[in-house]
Amino acid sequence: MRNWIGIRFSCHDAYLRVVVPPEGKKTTVKCPVCGREVDVMKGPGGSDRTYFEVGP
Ligand SMILES: [Zn+2]
Repeated sequence: MRNWIGIRFSCHDAYLRVVVPPEGKKTTVKCPVCGREVDVMKGPGGSDRTYFEVGP
């Protein structure tokens, strides 16, 4: 399984690859343009998706 996911910030059409943190931890991803933050975490009940889109 890949240990990274893709995140697209639709506010600025920016796409980033983020390394998935260890279970129970989270990592914060920022839009490179506006600095908008999104938390990424892995855990039970988490999704197996490898692509996420952050709405405007
Ligand atoms: Zn942005």
